[in-house]
Amino acid sequence: MGRGYGHAQGHGRGVNDREKEKTVGDATRLVQAGRRKEWTQGIVNPPVWRASTILYDSIAEMRERNRDTHHKLYYGRRGTPTQWSLADALTEMEPGAEGTLLYPSGVAAVTTALLAVLRPGDELLMVDSAYEPTRAFCNGLLKTFGITTVYYDPLIGTGISDLITDQTRAIFMESPGSLTFEVQDVPAICAVAKARGVVTLLDNTWATPLLFPAIEKGVDLSILACTKYIVGHSDAMLGSVTANAAWWPKLRHITHALGQHVGPDDAYLASRGLRTLDVRLARHQESALAIAEWLRTRDEVARVLHPAFADCPGNDIFQRDFRGASGLFAFILKGGDDAARTALIDGLDLFGIGFSWGGYESLVIPADPEKLRSAVKWEAEGPLVRLQIGLEDADDLIADLAAGLDRFRAARG
Ligand SMILES: *Cc1c(COP(=O)(O)O)cnc(C)c1O
Repeated sequence: MGRGYGHAQGHGRGVNDREKEKTVGDATRLVQAGRRKEWTQGIVNPPVWRASTILYDSIAEMRERNRDTHHKLYYGRRGTPTQWSLADALTEMEPGAEGTLLYPSGVAAVTTALLAVLRPGDELLMVDSAYEPTRAFCNGLLKTFGITTVYYDPLIGTGISDLITDQTRAIFMESPGSLTFEVQDVPAICAVAKARGVVTLLDNTWATPLLFPAIEKGVDLSILACTKYIVGHSDAMLGSVTANAAWWPKLRHITHALGQHVGPDDAYLASRGLRTLDVRLARHQESALAIAEWLRTRDEVARVLHPAFADCPGNDIFQRDFRGASGLFAFILKGGDDAARTALIDGLDLFGIGFSWGGYESLVIPADPEKLRSAVKWEAEGPLVRLQIGLEDADDLIADLAAGLDRFRAARG
């Protein structure tokens, strides 16, 4: 253990000093990240520090602390070593990143990042395949703030250039889309944006920095719903935004202004989840691919929407940019209606019916993307079913789905 601590102690460094990280692999980094000795006191996991008031020895000390609160106990809202450790670990997972801020949910991370970059009168380019609450925020609150959202085809690539006007402030991406799984050409879009002075944001929840290092690929603000794979056990809500050096001060300012804060218990759960991210993702990927391959052989299935498959839109980009796949994908049934889809889903034993994903258990949800599109019409051969493949034995999940497809066939007639 002494060796481990020695390394962790080496992490006691400034936010800009990240040279050492390049020398170790992702799994090693996940184990070491954020465990500064001054925060852990030698305990393996950064302890849960609960705080609102911080007591000072003198007025002079209070004023001094107020000068720069980063990684200093100042007031509970600015966090304690429990939150700093998690934020630091997430920064370490993103080569080229300057810092990370935490939020009480993935949606809070998305909305705060957007508020950090947008002003009244601005235009926002939003991917048409975006997560539904992201869309709702743009069409709702942002609209009332005088911000116009223009939706674009996820496969637009460098064509995004034609949509940029003098008012365009930001481009928001989500790749792959978490219902329909189109893969975006993030590096190409970021290159265009940079040349035109436009800021880029990516919802990187599906891949995490492990499978897609967003900042390195050119993104300014990389967003995670940590609720999913980082927490990994369906027992806490949490979001994060990791920024490059250019956007870090602005993001931090707006985040503090909005009073965003995460409780230390949830931060602790996310830190604990983070340590096993590499092994969990590997199993999610392996089982999801096996099940997706099997679904392709079934008559009742028209199409499987998995970024690793050649017929998934953007697969060439996926092959070029991603280090692997996670465990979330969808399939389109051949014909049938909502009732036939319901017959499939309702009788499943091992797949829970529920929102969210990224935990150890398999989940299933029906989705109707046609209601969530405005730039490109969504057309499919039948209803869509989205699967989160958990850590169960893939053969058991296949047997469960096989019985479900039998029920679907009977109900479809
Ligand atoms: C779940 C999800 C979010 C929101 O996360 P919450 O923690 O549930 O608020 C954002 N983006 C994507 C792609 C998601 O799947």
